[in-house]
Amino acid sequence: MALPNELPIYEVADEIVEGLRAVGRVVLSAPTGSGKSTQVPQILLDRCDLEGEIVVLQPRRLAARLLARRVAAERDVKLGDEVGYQIRFENIVSSKTRIRFVTEAILLRQILEDPSLQGVAAIVFDEFHERHLTSDLSIACALKSVQTVRPDLKLIVMSATLDIDSLEGYLKPCRRVEASGRMYPVECRFMGASLNRDAAPVWERAASAFRSHYKATDTTGDVLIFMPGAFEIRKTIDAIQGLAESKSYEVLPLHGELSPADQDRAVSSGSIPKVIVSTNVAETSITIEGVRTVIDGGQARIARYDMRRGINSILVEPISRASAEQRAGRAGRTGPGVCLRLWSEAEHLARADRDTAEVLRVDLSETLLLLAAAGIDQPEAFAWFESPNPQALSRASDLLVDLGALSHAGLITEIGLQMARFPLHPRYARMLIEAHRRGVLEQVTLIASLSQGRSIYRASREKSVRQAQLQQIEDHADERSDFFVHLKAWGLARELKFNALACAHVGVHGAASRQAGEVARQLLSVAQRQGLVATETAHADAIEERIAKCLLAGFSDQLSKRNDRGTNRCRMVHGRSGELRRESIVSSELFVAAEIEEREVRGDVTVLLGMATAVELTWLEALYPDDFLGGTKTTYDSSIRRVVCRSEQRFRDLVLESSDYGEPDYDKASELLAQEVVAGRLNMKNWDSSVEQWILRVNFVALHCPETEIAPIDSEARQLLTEQICHGALSYKDIKDRPVLATVKEWISPEQHYYIDTYAPATMDLPRRRNPAKIRYEEDGRAFIASKLQDFYDVPSESLKVANGQVALLVELLAPNQRPAHLTDDLDGFWAGAYQHVRKELAGRYPKHEWR
Ligand code: ADP
Ligand code: MG
Repeated sequence: MALPNELPIYEVADEIVEGLRAVGRVVLSAPTGSGKSTQVPQILLDRCDLEGEIVVLQPRRLAARLLARRVAAERDVKLGDEVGYQIRFENIVSSKTRIRFVTEAILLRQILEDPSLQGVAAIVFDEFHERHLTSDLSIACALKSVQTVRPDLKLIVMSATLDIDSLEGYLKPCRRVEASGRMYPVECRFMGASLNRDAAPVWERAASAFRSHYKATDTTGDVLIFMPGAFEIRKTIDAIQGLAESKSYEVLPLHGELSPADQDRAVSSGSIPKVIVSTNVAETSITIEGVRTVIDGGQARIARYDMRRGINSILVEPISRASAEQRAGRAGRTGPGVCLRLWSEAEHLARADRDTAEVLRVDLSETLLLLAAAGIDQPEAFAWFESPNPQALSRASDLLVDLGALSHAGLITEIGLQMARFPLHPRYARMLIEAHRRGVLEQVTLIASLSQGRSIYRASREKSVRQAQLQQIEDHADERSDFFVHLKAWGLARELKFNALACAHVGVHGAASRQAGEVARQLLSVAQRQGLVATETAHADAIEERIAKCLLAGFSDQLSKRNDRGTNRCRMVHGRSGELRRESIVSSELFVAAEIEEREVRGDVTVLLGMATAVELTWLEALYPDDFLGGTKTTYDSSIRRVVCRSEQRFRDLVLESSDYGEPDYDKASELLAQEVVAGRLNMKNWDSSVEQWILRVNFVALHCPETEIAPIDSEARQLLTEQICHGALSYKDIKDRPVLATVKEWISPEQHYYIDTYAPATMDLPRRRNPAKIRYEEDGRAFIASKLQDFYDVPSESLKVANGQVALLVELLAPNQRPAHLTDDLDGFWAGAYQHVRKELAGRYPKHEWR
């Protein structure tokens, strides 16, 4: 093992200390294993003369705990004294603590509660390249503190990748420090396709890669295998321990759910070679010395917005190429290494280049709620390191409004403040608070956990098993919610002590049920920590109704109404529509869906709704007085082209009930019909070009001759005029043949008509023409006269004026073929100038005409 003071980080220690002294902010990039996490906090403590704590932010609990233990050991102090750590549910610190490793959520809550960060001298953001949403938020908040109340607070941002330009710009002024690492070459081999249907499970492929590698080489050294989670790690260890080749190795897991002692065992060096099977914590957070072979399963658990459940979920996904590169590098720390990738080269090329930051891929409602609770209620204006997409922001704030956490003005409510204290998605926070009020906390935590985890139903093709399942559970379930079926099924599994075989007989998944129970217990303890206790108080409503109301509170944004009894098609709030899954037992007209899934069927996207719970109209009225809107409404119904009066009840934008309600008011009816006409959706036969030309003349005079006091016919006037024309009508049939021009002409007084005729005449006499020439007025205030070129011989320029002599007509001189030959507003100037050219050309083509 390298002695700490030989680690590459010490080559740049002076630069770090100097940078902090000079500008207070340092961006440090150095490869994994160079000593950032363990040494930088100690350099700050020993050499920077700081007063107060050094807080080191870690994206992972496992890393926070291991690093604290390691640093305490290096300094030979008891954990929790000078060096401590704080993660969710574990707090190993004391008043003596100077270096405190924390997970992101802990620091974020601390900054939001106390932006002055009392007692904190420096914050070290470790593993910033991971770009978790919480670390993005924490760094923005810390920067704000530095710029306002804590100019002396030191910030160090560390990253294992070199891509730190944007970070440097964000933190400016700051000092950039780079350290090199020592790396040996690593040979990467692709072990074949992983996405084929017949590909074996990833743990079996890992075991066979291990075996073939063991046979082919005589490399000594440890083996590091990457798997996405605890389950796959267990399977891999079983598969490897089943091989004769593994006998000379110690096979050890490394993930967050192990005891601290087991975690230590995996990272410490022993005498016999090891196979460590780890989550991606070993990708950059934790370095294990002596690894010469990496076997990469190529997957990781990644947080992503789960459309179906409307919350964030952790999904197993292929890692990016950049991640794979990092993982391979773990084999080249102490000598040349080998990396076996359990996928094909073609698949590799199809993978994402690098990971997208969480801020761009997860649901932001929990984040917005936290910010709002801290008084930051304009998320668009927040100084994000990378701004989220505006649609994601508005979707998140809409949800918070629907859940009652934010007012329509975007301000946090009483219940919103309470929800923000839960380390849970706001939906679940809201449901638990409601459940506490209604005395059904235990049932609702179980429902919440059933809706988050994998299904407790056993997929079974065996008919007899299915029948047993149906008989036992569905027949006897309360049909007001699909969750009641799941609750019953879970109860059955519990009676069978979650025994896999016994559960399978009734069609239930024992292990998934046991796990759901555990998650429910955790949720219950979260609720209890927030002061909610499961009590047995008397309630007027039946227990099923109380549970259903909690589901309504958590999913009111997914309220749905069947289009008809007997159909599964329905409309939903926020203008959506969907179809309830056939397997739902809920038959009521109104329900909330806890699951939404978009599915493409023959090119059409249908929204499938699942896990429904029946809801009653009276509940909406009582629980959402502000969102429940009722009354009569007069509207234009485009399907029958008629104005109708309906009495209507709505929940937000979803119409719950609508019935005809007598004759509509005639004023309202003509207004609505006029709107359709003005918008061009209905066409009145007599509103023709003569009407439009009249309007143009009126507007021409209004524009050029304000002394006439004629008001222009603008869109508002058009609406008023059309209303007058439509008065007394209810349908398109009533208005389509009505006369128009007479009413439009009444817009101006009889005296003003004189001005229209003289200042904007419809025609003008030209001496050489038999009948007068038309004048065309345009919306922009210009007027045109068009006639044969010869008609303008001997016409004095002066006479071609309108608007009381103020506006010269634009003269369009037409060739014998009626095509415009020239356009001018200065006829005299034309004869003297351009005419010579025009004549030359036209006289040649039309020699029989008169050309002066
Ligand atoms: P970085 O953060 O730059 O990746 P670290 O500070 O985590 O580097 O690690 C520096 C060195 O200390 C590495 O060589 C690593 O092997 C060693 N080390 C860190 N933690 C432990 C531990 N818990 N047990 C044994 N060695 C460790
Ligand atoms: Mg580190």
